[in-house]
Amino acid sequence: MELNIIFLDIDGVLCLNRRMNQVCLENLKTIVDNTSARIVLSSSWKLFPKSRRQIETSFREIGIDPIIGWTCTRGKTRVDEICYWLTNFDNKTIDDDILIKNWIAIDDMDLLKLDPKRMQDHFVLTSEEHGITKETVQEAIRLFSERTEGF
Ligand SMILES: [Mg+2]
Repeated sequence: MELNIIFLDIDGVLCLNRRMNQVCLENLKTIVDNTSARIVLSSSWKLFPKSRRQIETSFREIGIDPIIGWTCTRGKTRVDEICYWLTNFDNKTIDDDILIKNWIAIDDMDLLKLDPKRMQDHFVLTSEEHGITKETVQEAIRLFSERTEGF
């Protein structure tokens, strides 16, 4: 099965002022509905089962498929963690064998600035204040549609 993957941060993306934001969740749903993308957590929320459950609950309520995993904590930066997942994710931990069609990261930390070489054409920046906006949705869908050769 070929999949589009979104590496998703939570704070400043879906969670604004420490609360899950309904508009941001709906905007994320628009992205996944249009791209069939599945979500891998890159946020530090991945570290806490209670936080992951909170995300799963929000996803279930709005109709987003469950996350398929989360990045590890190897490497120096979040980009290292994402790239490690892309090359080392373990099909045995996932229901079906998957091939990655394309991927993007959505984060309020500027990962493109941090690592332009690896994040070029794979990154959408959000603001801590607004999270995922309509503009984020357009940009994410554009990146998935323009680049389909994988990574
Ligand atoms: Mg953040």
